[in-house]
Parts: sequence; C-alpha cells; structure tokens
Amino acid sequence: AYDIHIIGGGLAGSEAAWQLAKRGLKVRLSEMRGSGDMSPAHQTTGLAELVCSNSFRSDDHEKNAVGLLHHEMRQLDSLVMAAAAKAEVPAGSALAVDRDVFSAEVEAALAAQPTLEIVRERIDTLPAAGLTIVATGPLTAAALADSIGQATGADSLAFFDAIAPIVYRDTINMDVCWMASRWDKGETKDYINCPMTKEQYLAFHAGLLAGEKTEFREWEANTPYFEGCMPIEVMAERGVDTLRFGPMKPVGLDNPHEATPEFPNGRWPYAVVQLRQDNKLGTIWNMVGFQTKLKHAEQVRLFRTIPGLENAEFARLGGLHRNTFLNSPELLDRQLRLKTAPHIRFAGQVTGCEGYVESAAVGLMAGLMTAAEATGRDWTAPPRTTALGALLSHITGDAEAESYQPMNINFGLFPPPPAEVKKKQRKEAYTARAKQDMAEWLKAAV
Ligand code: FAD
Repeated sequence: AYDIHIIGGGLAGSEAAWQLAKRGLKVRLSEMRGSGDMSPAHQTTGLAELVCSNSFRSDDHEKNAVGLLHHEMRQLDSLVMAAAAKAEVPAGSALAVDRDVFSAEVEAALAAQPTLEIVRERIDTLPAAGLTIVATGPLTAAALADSIGQATGADSLAFFDAIAPIVYRDTINMDVCWMASRWDKGETKDYINCPMTKEQYLAFHAGLLAGEKTEFREWEANTPYFEGCMPIEVMAERGVDTLRFGPMKPVGLDNPHEATPEFPNGRWPYAVVQLRQDNKLGTIWNMVGFQTKLKHAEQVRLFRTIPGLENAEFARLGGLHRNTFLNSPELLDRQLRLKTAPHIRFAGQVTGCEGYVESAAVGLMAGLMTAAEATGRDWTAPPRTTALGALLSHITGDAEAESYQPMNINFGLFPPPPAEVKKKQRKEAYTARAKQDMAEWLKAAV
C-alpha cells in the first residue's frame, strides 16, 4: 500500500520521490526502464539518467538564473543537487557531472528510503484515483501519452517541440522597429515589427538556404512536419517569396518611421519580421513563425541581420525535436494539478519547462506540494522573485497559453528590478532580491 504514486523515475520523478519519502510518506515510484522498455534517447536502466549533455550549466548564483536555481534547490535539500555534488567533474564555473556516478547516487539514496518502493513497470493509463505525480518526461511512452491526451484534449498535448527563438525585449532597437498589429488603426499595437527592404530580404532568404542545419536524430526522422510548425528554412526552400506570403508578410503594417506628408502613417516594408509577447511581464518576445533547425551560432548570426535585432540577445534559440508536453498554463492549476482531475499532478519536462535542472526543480516543488496535500497542510508557493517561484509562475499561468513552448529558467521570467538599477548591476539585483525573499519564504513555509 502506498499514499502517492509517482510515474517516471527521471530527473523530476526521482526528486519528487526523495522529497516525499524523506518526510515519511509511502511512495511507489514506477519506472519503465528496467522492465524491458526503453525510451528512444535513454541508454541505461538507471534512475535520473542524463540523456545528452552532462552539464547542469552555470553554478554562479550571483549573476546567473540557473545558478540561482541550483542554490535554491540546495536550500531545499535537493537530491539531484546532492548527487551532482558527489559526481562533479571539472567544468569551470559550470556544474558538470559524471553521469553514471550521478545516476547511481540518486538511485542509492532512493533505494535506502524505507517508505519508498521502486518498481520497474510501465504505466499505460492515468490512475483514476489516488495522489499521483506524472513525471514521464519529453519521451513519455505512447500509451500513457494517449491517455494524457484523452484526459486533456489531444490539441493540448504537443508532440513536437516547435521552438521559435525568444528575444529579450530590452535588446530590441525600437528606433528601427515599431509596435503595431496588422491593419491596426492605432488601437491594438500587439506586435513588434522589424522592417526589411527588398535587398535585406533577399540576403536573408539566401542566408536561410545556405545556413548550417542540425540533422534530425535517427528516431526523429520519421516524425512528419506539421504545416503549422514548419521550420523557417524549409519554408524558404519552397520559393523566394514563400516567406513574404507567410510569416514575413508585410501587408497592413505601415511603418511610422517611413511617414511622409503623403503617407502620414508610413508605408509597408518589403517584408516584416514580427515578435509577439511571450510572458505577462513583457520582458521576452518570440519571433513569430521562426521555428528552425539552424545551428545555434548560425541563428544568432543570421537573426542579428534583421533590422532592429542587430544587438538582440536570445532567451532561447529555435529548435525542433519530439517533445511531449502539456499546455500547462491552460490545463494545470497553480499547484501543478490537472484542473479536470486534481488528484493528478504533473512534474518535469512534461509541464513545459526545459532542461535537467528545471525538470528536477519542478519535481521538487511537486514533491513539496504533494507532501503538504497528503498531510493536510496548506502550501504557499515560493515568491515569484525567486528562481523556483518564477519558473512555477511561468508554467502555471503567466506564460501565454497560445504560444506556450518549453523554456529554460532565465531572468526574463522574473519581475524586473526597479528601473533605476543600472544595466551592469541588474543580474546581481535579481539574485540578491531572490535570496532575501527565499529566506523569508523558508522561515514561513517549509
Ligand atoms: P526524464 O528524465 O526523461 O524522465 C522521465 C522518465 O519516465 C524516464 O526515465 C522514462 O523512462 C520514464 N517513463 C516514460 N514513460 C513512462 C511510462 N509510461 N511508465 C513508466 N515510466 C515512464 N536537458 C538538458 O538540460 N541538457 C541536455 O543536454 C538535454 N538533452 C536532451 C536530449 C534529448 C534527446 C531530449 C529528449 C531532452 C533533452 N534535455 C536536455 C531535456 C530535458 O531536460 C531532459 O529530457 C530531462 O531528462 C527531463 O527530465 P524529466 O524528469 O522530465 O524526464
């Protein structure tokens, strides 16, 4: 008999299991690897296997958002962070690990918990009752993905990670760009528009065709493109004007920087790149229709040739790979529970966070929430000025549901520090405020 069922023993499921078991709760952790099943990317049967890089990224908690997240997780006795410390390998200011040592440390710590049972089994349907945490990751096995799709509406479960680049708002040059919606008469100015002349457009089009692309992994090769998330360079291959009639369409977009007495609202450019607000704070904006498989360095180089984006800094770059994740801002409540079946909580990358650390962090919070629920206590979320709180707020309601895409932790998800803080001091301002607010929350909450 168990109180809580966790499905998936990856980064998020292992962390959630730890947080629950060390509080004495009875947990069943179901992991399909080791029962004869394997995901297309995993290589071992070990819990918390790192499928690709061995890095948890920057460990700098003064100036870096993911470093701050590490710091906060350590304060909450994170198993993933403790195992990483034991498995650490030299990597400058980054935290990198020996992946086998790391996985073995996680597994040993969990195996030693008397109230935790690790079962090697695949789960094919969402449990009808009982406190459950689903942490099956971006490669959730097909039958369970179907069951989740049925519970949430198939449209809400993305099977493809169509990622367009996201730009920090304060790095966009508004002397060149302007705010407007198509055909607006000045009322709704929802988009940032970057104008292109014919010469600039033709050079950009040639750049897309020539740019170096990442190859599909073997297991991704059979996954078809959906018309709705066609990579921009694939669209460019269809003809020189395809983009001008698609995502780079200029019609109805008068550029006020080109206003003349004859055209007081300005003229339409030859082509336009549009950016749409990506979070409620308005600090990060996504490039509409620009999902791409171009190599990251190539994206930075080429997208900075777009007028107004000469100095753009990217909160994330574009990409396309198989990824099962929920439209969490719409489907989950503020406690990661499925609104239509609140005994089920989701954690990890399946909620739409991105990355090992973020997945573990969401697993940690799901563990704390479930522990509170199982013992009849109220749960207060970490303040949104902390890395944990910012990540949770983004997933559970602050992100725009229509364009929801997997996201790493970054300072664009935090409320901005006061305007008078100078650019050079802003990163420290974020982390100092987070540490102060985290300390208050820890005193009251855990
Ligand atoms: P996972 O760690 O994948 O854990 C999910 C677990 O659930 C797995 O162990 C799986 O076997 C199990 N499972 C699935 N379905 C079932 C079922 N029906 N029943 C029982 N068990 C099930 N992030 C980075 O930070 N750096 C990277 O380099 C990186 N590379 C990636 C490469 C690829 C190919 C992919 C797909 C993702 C990558 N990620 C990377 C993103 C992400 O951070 C990792 O996928 C991370 O492991 C997600 O953690 P998770 O706990 O949500 O899922």
